[in-house]
Amino acid sequence: MAKKLRVCVWHEFVHEKKNASVKEIYPDGMHVVIADGLREKLGDSAEVGTATLQEPEHGLTQERLDATDVLLWWGHCAHGEVSDEVVNRVQARVLQGMGLIVLHSGHFSKPFKRLLGTSCALKWREAGEKERLWVCNPGHPIAAGLGDYFELPQTEMYGEPFGIPSPDEQVFISWFEGGEVFRSGCTWIRGNGKIFYFRPGHETYPIYYDENVRKVLANAVQWAAPQGHWVGVMAAPNVPVDKAPEPIVAKGPSVHEEGEAGFR
Ligand code: ZN
Repeated sequence: MAKKLRVCVWHEFVHEKKNASVKEIYPDGMHVVIADGLREKLGDSAEVGTATLQEPEHGLTQERLDATDVLLWWGHCAHGEVSDEVVNRVQARVLQGMGLIVLHSGHFSKPFKRLLGTSCALKWREAGEKERLWVCNPGHPIAAGLGDYFELPQTEMYGEPFGIPSPDEQVFISWFEGGEVFRSGCTWIRGNGKIFYFRPGHETYPIYYDENVRKVLANAVQWAAPQGHWVGVMAAPNVPVDKAPEPIVAKGPSVHEEGEAGFR
């Protein structure tokens, strides 16, 4: 039997407790609905769990991350409350090989900005307008099972310019009723980890119940599955002269003490 993909849906879980319209759509929280959608589509091939900001270490202990193949991230108003220690951990796990799927306003989350290294800023408008998501590459695994495009009847608008590094692959481009366009489905590789940003997911509309959105997220989880892990990716080991693959003699001065292991 093939190994199950271990998936964790992370959510800041704040709006549902404060805003009546969000609570009505997601009474138990958006993470629960996203996780249900993944279970429905992925069946026995995945083990889907959730974690939230309020849990100790935001539910992302080293142990939990080490046992996660693909992490989904939804955040908006509490990005600043995510501890840098957890961000360091998430970054390291992605570089090792964990997949990361960043949703909607997660464009401004600490892990996304850290991994991409750019502003990740964008234009926005809340007018309940229609979004049409065009599939840029029908052959891409994340777009499997979709038509030329799909639409969400009411969304928040995100518009270009979007302050991201040029994506490795452009999977979706969105057009909005008000005229703007946006790179709404983008992929990057960082270290061994695959990253997918997917724009839809504004909290005041039932986006994560949408059939096409659920299909995209399930496809993305399968696409982002690790191909392998480089566990020591953050280490910078010194190779002593006497351990060189070929015999050599040290020549010239060194700024390091003899036997010093650390990196400076
Ligand atoms: Zn939003």
